[in-house]
Amino acid sequence: MLLGEQKEMQAPHSLSVVVPVFNEQEVLADFHCRLAAVLDSLGLRTQVIYVNDGSTDGTLEAIAQLAEHDARVVLVDLSRNFGKEIALTAGLDHADADAVVVIDADLQDPPELIPELVAHWLDGYDVVYAKRTCRDGESVTKKVTAFLFYRLMQKLSRVRIPEDTGDFRLLSRRAVRAVCQMREQHRFMKGLFAWIGFPQKAVPYRRAPRHAGATKWNYWKLWNFALEGITSFTCLPLKIATYVGLCSALGAFAYGLYIVLRTVVLGSPAPGYPSLLAMVTFLGGLQLLSIGIIGEYLARMFDESKRRPLYFLKDGQPRDSLRLAAPF
Ligand code: UDP
Ligand code: MG
Repeated sequence: MLLGEQKEMQAPHSLSVVVPVFNEQEVLADFHCRLAAVLDSLGLRTQVIYVNDGSTDGTLEAIAQLAEHDARVVLVDLSRNFGKEIALTAGLDHADADAVVVIDADLQDPPELIPELVAHWLDGYDVVYAKRTCRDGESVTKKVTAFLFYRLMQKLSRVRIPEDTGDFRLLSRRAVRAVCQMREQHRFMKGLFAWIGFPQKAVPYRRAPRHAGATKWNYWKLWNFALEGITSFTCLPLKIATYVGLCSALGAFAYGLYIVLRTVVLGSPAPGYPSLLAMVTFLGGLQLLSIGIIGEYLARMFDESKRRPLYFLKDGQPRDSLRLAAPF
């Protein structure tokens, strides 16, 4: 048995809660109050890691205030706004506990569900994710687009990404270690959580409306998030472009043959300007679309090939994910 494994087995059960926060000063106190009450009831050694994702309001001061009154609070302060996915990763890098819960600060994910997540973890599941049974206070368009997106992802990707599931979940230590080893710049977290495998379990819950403050997502961001999900987890669009190209080329070839034969048999009255124009613009459009799809993948390869660190902390170096092997 490896030394690390031995220590892991001897350690008492400890739990880290990772909370990415970006401009959440209105909800933070309420959130922490509810979270602390839940953590008190667990009987585990706990730690709450707030990742300040370059907030521009009083969030940082609010976290400092919480830390004064609660020794469990740890602050990870990023050098600018990196986005929720990277903030989450930074939190996971800094979590050393036997299990880690990832939760939003806006109280849309109820902290009261944590004991249930923990219970399933103790039963032996590595990833216990909270599955929304309903989304209160969100527009019909958002619900419909989210519904379609999850079904499309299901069809496109070989990894089964659970539908109607956000980032709210519990990860065992080996699951956290696995996620932290994936250092890609474009992080579709739900996909990564699913990709690592291990025994996974869903816990249904009712998603509440935001407690206060405003969502940081608009439809343009959501569209890009969907693109991120698709391009990070499947190359199918590239294949579709190839087959559409092939079909239209075959069609054009057949049409050309038909024109030649018709000219030979019937002579050439030379009409057909409109149809020619339609064909040329249609094919031009298809070509641009295909180039665009290739470009999406190429841009991601470009970003990955730079091999930059995922984030910087305001003070000090980003923590190396391999140090996660150290005990709590
Ligand atoms: N968040 C973050 N960085 C960002 C945007 C959001 O850390 O750039 C945090 C935010 O503070 C919250 C969580 O991610 O704790 C979810 O954000 P939000 O509620 O805006 O997303 P939604 O629930 O609408 O999907
Ligand atoms: Mg929210």
